[in-house]
Parts: sequence; structure tokens; C-alpha cells
Amino acid sequence: MDRWPSVAPPMSNEAPKNDFIRQLIQEDRKGGKRGGRVQTRFPPEPNGFLHIGHAKSICLNFGIAKDFGGRCFLRFDDTNPATEEELFIRSIEQDVRWLGFDWGADLRFASDYFDAIYEHAEALIEAGKAFVCDLSSDEMRELRGVPGQPGKESPHRSRSVAESLELFRKMRAGEFPDGSRTLRAKIDMASPNFNLRDPVLYRIKRQPHPKTGTKWVIYPMYDYAHALSDAIEGTTHSICTLEFEDHRPLYDWCLEVLPIDKWTQRSSDERPNQYEFARMEVTYLLTSKRKLKDLVETKTVADWDDPRMPTIAGLRRRGVPAAALRDFCDRIGVAKAAQQVEFELLDHCIREELDKTAPRAMVVTKPLKVTIETLPAGEITALYAPNHPSNAEMGSRKVALSRELYIEATDFMLDPPKKFFRLGPGREVRLRFGPIIKCERVVTNAAGEVVELVCSHDAASMPGAGGEPRKVKGVIHWVSAEKNAVCEVRNYDRLFAAPEPSDVPEGEDYKKNLNPGSLETLPTAFAELSLAGSAPGSTYQFERLGYYVVDRDSQAERLVVNRTVGLRDSWAKEQSKE
Ligand code: ATP
Ligand code: MG
Repeated sequence: MDRWPSVAPPMSNEAPKNDFIRQLIQEDRKGGKRGGRVQTRFPPEPNGFLHIGHAKSICLNFGIAKDFGGRCFLRFDDTNPATEEELFIRSIEQDVRWLGFDWGADLRFASDYFDAIYEHAEALIEAGKAFVCDLSSDEMRELRGVPGQPGKESPHRSRSVAESLELFRKMRAGEFPDGSRTLRAKIDMASPNFNLRDPVLYRIKRQPHPKTGTKWVIYPMYDYAHALSDAIEGTTHSICTLEFEDHRPLYDWCLEVLPIDKWTQRSSDERPNQYEFARMEVTYLLTSKRKLKDLVETKTVADWDDPRMPTIAGLRRRGVPAAALRDFCDRIGVAKAAQQVEFELLDHCIREELDKTAPRAMVVTKPLKVTIETLPAGEITALYAPNHPSNAEMGSRKVALSRELYIEATDFMLDPPKKFFRLGPGREVRLRFGPIIKCERVVTNAAGEVVELVCSHDAASMPGAGGEPRKVKGVIHWVSAEKNAVCEVRNYDRLFAAPEPSDVPEGEDYKKNLNPGSLETLPTAFAELSLAGSAPGSTYQFERLGYYVVDRDSQAERLVVNRTVGLRDSWAKEQSKE
């Protein structure tokens, strides 16, 4: 596979975090800026579920507040009521909490500041720094100009302060139709930075808002509302992704010209500064809210929390521990240049966490019946199995051995090659935690398919039998056919087959990159009885198969499990080669 050039993540995450943003904060503090105060915010727009890229931003903003003894606000950027929903607000809160962060009392909505944002707009007009413009969006685009050439000023730019103020108040009062007028900043139509070519600050939109209902028919634009919200709240370091780099001059302009210091009663040194870092992208995963929404709406996936989705809710349902996700975000660091991380590193972090925390269990996913004719019918022998190979504190459990049991169909071959150390006619294998068995006869059906193996067992090889310990090459997992939990296994794989799912020629659908084998359902699996009734969210390592999590679709009489990751760690292997 191609290796992406940009990041060389460390094997261990134990070094103290020292990214360029933390370094800048340290410098600020050394210089005594803002009395050393550190306040950040995570500002999601509630127009979808959070994805793995947002996890990076959450870990960074909340992590910095924690490291410097500061605060981090969860602030919903709810300036566009057309796309925002209560469902998304709830899901975002749940996801941030699940990731292990707590905003305490510091929950805000940009809409909490709508009155202040409006008053500042009037102040801007009064200062001659904003005007009401009657151009349509097409006309505005026309006059905005092209790169390398200045734009043209709006004919309404020279309106008197009194006229703009009157029109703006009428906009607010609902006297004009949607889209007929805007409030624009008066900056510089010749600026090489298009964000400064008299950007729109307010637009008319008759749309009920989840928080403010029908109080407003005008809504502030993101850049303006964001700078103001940061300043009002007392943000010190406003951390965002690189696409906002060109917006920073507008952010600073707003803070410079608005009477914000008077409002906050803080000195101008207290104003926030914006810092940009590179968006996190992970190979094979989509980090575009718009496309994730499309996958849900077209029913390409079951829902926002489909275990194949790169949403935080999807990763959680897939069985990814929050600690693994935090570890992943920490390890990749904070870059100023575009960052594409290999998904194998994410899987590695998941395995490393689950290896420590997930109890072991046996599950047969594609069952083949085995009868041990040397064991009496109806007799159950309890074998003891440790729950973890190296952590005795995780205890042990009883595993039922009975005359009839199931093994994986793939652990038997009618005509095995020499190197196949599992079962074949006349061959021996050890049952994990149990005795050695030998395949005496193979039962086939009318179609010639193998339907059952008749085996004998070596009583002396039974654990605790006191016999001479005997070694055979193969050890296989198994489940009693008499005492077990019926189980549906959902083997998930990556949703996209291409490392850059969005990378398709103009006019083609990114969905052509979907992986047709992203879900394999095995409806007739058997789990050892100790798993019966496991709570949704419980994680296990199924011996020889992978890490699994109990799904919320599970019922008392029918366990449903999702594969989180397989056992083979290709990332660790690659690293050890280098
Ligand atoms: P959009 O604004 O187009 O709906 P968005 O992904 O920017 O999508 P927001 O809700 O605005 O979504 O994002 C909230 C915060 O998360 C922002 O500060 C944003 O910069 C950050 N963020 C979003 N995507 C990533 C990413 N891939 N990597 C790191 N941070 C991200
Ligand atoms: Mg955004």
C-alpha cells in the first residue's frame, strides 16, 4: 500500500504533548499575556453527527484547557437554522462526554449572543464600518472581482449612516423579503483577500430557529458571529482548521473595529487570537459532514451510528474504546501542513487498548459439529479458562465441555496439506483449555458435504488429569453444542475500498468507491455460555478471530456482536521493519 508522506507518528504516546499550539500558549504565558489565562472552545455546527476529525479538535481544545488549568467551552455554532436540529445537539453532547471531556457549566450557543451580536452590528453601522446593501447574491458575486483584480464597490456603500441604520432595523423587523438585502462590512474591495471585500455580516432568512424560535428573521454570518462569540465568552486561543487561515484578517478586523472591549470590560490585550492547524484526514475514512449525511439519507448505511461510519457514534457502536480514540488523536500530533493518517494506526491504537481491557472468550462463527464419542452423552465437564492471558486480576471463567460441540468449519480439511495444523481425517488438535481430540470419522450428507466429525479424546491430555503433558501443533477454539449462547456475528470491514474515498473524477459519484464486502453477517454463530446476557458495549477478544463488541440489537436469547478489528496488526508490523 502507498504510504502517506506527512506524518511519522511515535510508537508511544508517553512523551508530554508539545505541539506548536501548546508552545505558543507557553510563550504567551511566559510573557504574562492575559495573566496566563487559557480558555478554548469547541464550536460545532449542529448540522450532523461528529466524525473522527472532530474528535481531534475536541481532544486538542479540551486537552489544552486541562493541561493549562483553563476552561474549554462547548459552543454550538447555531447561526444557520436551515440545517440545524435538536437531534444533532443531543448527539454532539453525548459524543463529547463519551470521549471523556466535561464542559461543566460552560455550555453555550452562538444564539445566546444574538442580542449582543445585533447591537454590535448597529454600532458598526454608526461607526461607518458597515452598510445595508440591496444587491442580490448574483450581483454581489459579479462585483466581487477575480483574483489579481480589484472588485467594484456596491452602489449602496455610500449610503448615509442614518439610512443604513433605518434599513437594518427594518430588516430585523421583517419588512423585507428573504435575500433582498444584507448588512455588509465596509472594508476593502481591492483587497487580495476576498474575505475582506466587504463581506456579508447579516442576511434575511425567515426560518424558525431551534433555540430562538421566530424571534429573528435576520441571522449573522459565521465569521462575524464567531469572532464576537469568542470575545464575549473570553476565549483566549481560538483554535480552528486551516481553511480559516484566510478568514483570520476578518476575525481580527471585527475585534479591532467593534466596541467589544467596552462590552466585555476587558483590555484590548485580553482579546482572543485565532490559530489554525491542519484538518485530520484518515485513509479510507470520509471526514465530510455533507457526504456522511448523504450516506445516511441515501440509506447506504443504516444510520449515523452504523458501525462502518467514521462518526464518533459509529466508532462507539463499532466497539472502539474512547481511550483508543484519544490515544490516536494524541499520537498524530498537531500539524500546520495537511495531514493524512493511515487508518492502520487507528486500528493499532484500538488493538493496543482492547488487548489490555477486553476479556477473552470463545465463539464459533461458521459452525461444524463435532461428536466426541469417547465422552458420555449428557455429561458436562467444567474447564477453567483465564479471562486474560497475562492479567490474572481479570479472573477466570468456566467453559462447558460436552460430547457434542462446534468448531469452525475452516479448522477442518478433508485433504489437508502438511502444514495445516488443524483437523483432518486421522489428525489431532488440542481444544483450547481442553483435551486433545483426534478425528476418527467424517460424516457427509447426500451432496458429499462434511456435516459432522466424529472424534475421540485423549483422557490423559485433559487439563488437570495429571497425565504426561503432550504437545500437538494446533490449538483451536470451540463451543459446546449443548451449553452456549446463540449469536449473530456482524463482521464489519472498511466502508470504502479506496484510500481516498472522495477522490473521484469530476462528475463521478464517490459511492463507486464503496467496499461491497463491508458487512458480512453470520447469523448462526455460537458463543460460550458465559457471554449470554452481556450488556451492549461489552468488548471481548474472541480467540483467534478478533475484537468484538456486544451490539445494542442484542437480546437475552440472541446475542448480536460487531467486529471492531481483526487481530493482525499490520501497522505494528510495518513499524518494526523500519
Ligand atoms: P461544516 O462547517 O462544513 O459543516 P465542519 O467539519 O467544519 O463542517 P464544524 O461543526 O464547523 O464542522 O466543526 C467544528 C470544529 O471541528 C471546527 O473548529 C472545525 O475546524 C473542527 N474540525 C472539523 N473537521 C475537522 C477535521 N477533519 N480535523 C480537525 N478538526 C476538524
Ligand atoms: Mg465549520
